[in-house]
Amino acid sequence: MEKSFQVIVVGGGFAGVAAVKALGRQGVKVLLVDQNNYHQFQPLLYQVATAQIGVSDVTRTFRGMFQRYRSASVVTAKVVAVDVHAHTVTTADGDTFHAQILVLAAGAEANYFNTPGAEEHAYPLYSVPDAVRLGNDLVRALDAAHRGGSDGGGIHVVVVGGGPTGVETAGAIAENFKYVIPKYFSQELAARSSVHLVDMVPSVLNAFSDKSKAYATSHLQAAGVRLKMGQGVTEVRPDGVAFADGTTLPAQLVIWAGGLKAGAVVAQSGLQQGRGGRIDVNPDLTAPNTTGIYVLGDAANMTDARGAKLPQLGSCAQQAGKWAARNIHADLTGGTRTPFAYVDKGYMAMIGRGAAVAEIGPKRFQVQGPLAFLAWLGVHVVLLSGNRQRISAVISWADDYLSHSRSHVVLGSPTK
Ligand SMILES: Cc1cc2nc3c(=O)[nH]c(=O)nc-3n(C[C@H](O)[C@H](O)[C@H](O)COP(=O)(O)OP(=O)(O)OC[C@H]3O[C@@H](n4cnc5c(N)ncnc54)[C@H](O)[C@@H]3O)c2cc1C
Repeated sequence: MEKSFQVIVVGGGFAGVAAVKALGRQGVKVLLVDQNNYHQFQPLLYQVATAQIGVSDVTRTFRGMFQRYRSASVVTAKVVAVDVHAHTVTTADGDTFHAQILVLAAGAEANYFNTPGAEEHAYPLYSVPDAVRLGNDLVRALDAAHRGGSDGGGIHVVVVGGGPTGVETAGAIAENFKYVIPKYFSQELAARSSVHLVDMVPSVLNAFSDKSKAYATSHLQAAGVRLKMGQGVTEVRPDGVAFADGTTLPAQLVIWAGGLKAGAVVAQSGLQQGRGGRIDVNPDLTAPNTTGIYVLGDAANMTDARGAKLPQLGSCAQQAGKWAARNIHADLTGGTRTPFAYVDKGYMAMIGRGAAVAEIGPKRFQVQGPLAFLAWLGVHVVLLSGNRQRISAVISWADDYLSHSRSHVVLGSPTK
């Protein structure tokens, strides 16, 4: 295939896909390079891990997504080197591609903050393989505990990180323990099992309002989640976690939702890294002191017109992708780039059945409970890529809501 393009986009997450689509619409010769042949919908990975929805609901092939854009091509390969001066990207297969403009949109990975044992023993939740591995190992641990009979222990899970990812994951696992284990295994096993949500900050959902925090805390506790807030995890061990206050919590599985840093491609690029290893981009989304290099989404520290930091969110990455495409079009046609104007839609987090919190728009209009739950479902249906995926996810949610079924529990091969 050709090796030279007008634009190369590294990473087909929310930002990269939005950029490729907008450039493809304008007939720009663009190449997307991603390590997978599919786009993955990160916000619902915890539901894959807890068997609420299937892998095919959160994935969509890039070639299927871009088939109508004749100027867009796709290469499935891991990028191992980016030369921001020569404008080339090199893949693990040894191929090198060149473009006038490079867009780095390779997202983020777990940041373990050098916590001993975390990388070896904790489960991250940032990719489809992460979700499948966690889901498999959860079911395996349940099977093993069930085989132990009434003499055996239960299954104990610790989720590290009380932000939206940790809250959603802990809530979903607690719901499985409360409703699904009694149905698929036994009431006794459910009674012997526990899920803990731990964080060094004093409350869950630290970035949300006090009202949302209080709602989330009481609903998590009602669902059976045991909270340990205000104590940092100092070590992750094969059999649990240790805290700064000297206490420990035994667990078969420790899930890491404790923080993010920019992916390895960004570190390798030689661009000056800021907070979280991300690139502090210019207001027009270009990298400082370079020509024709854009950095977007979770790989960048983006700001709004007033200089306020923008969040690491799917909608923010998606808007940045569209905006970058507009600026790239200006670069290619002699136009003028404009600063990224982010439309703040707010935050939301699912806590469990009929329970969610939402803080909508820049004025943070607050909604809790069933209305927020419905809003969460609506937003995620809209954000999901592909009509088949949307319909299938809605069917799975309805099935779950009405019957607590877990039809997506299909064990793969052991991964460890
Ligand atoms: C569990 C979880 C729950 C979340 N929930 C929400 C939510 O409810 N609402 C919300 O708005 N946001 C949510 N987020 C945040 C949101 O998913 C991210 O902000 C968003 O995905 C960032 O988009 P991105 O395009 O920058 O990167 P990503 O979506 O991470 O995409 C990066 C892409 O780059 C590719 N890639 C990485 N490295 C390489 C390489 N070396 N070579 C080739 N390709 C590479 C990856 O395969 C991937 O396709 C959640 C995130 C997680 C992890």
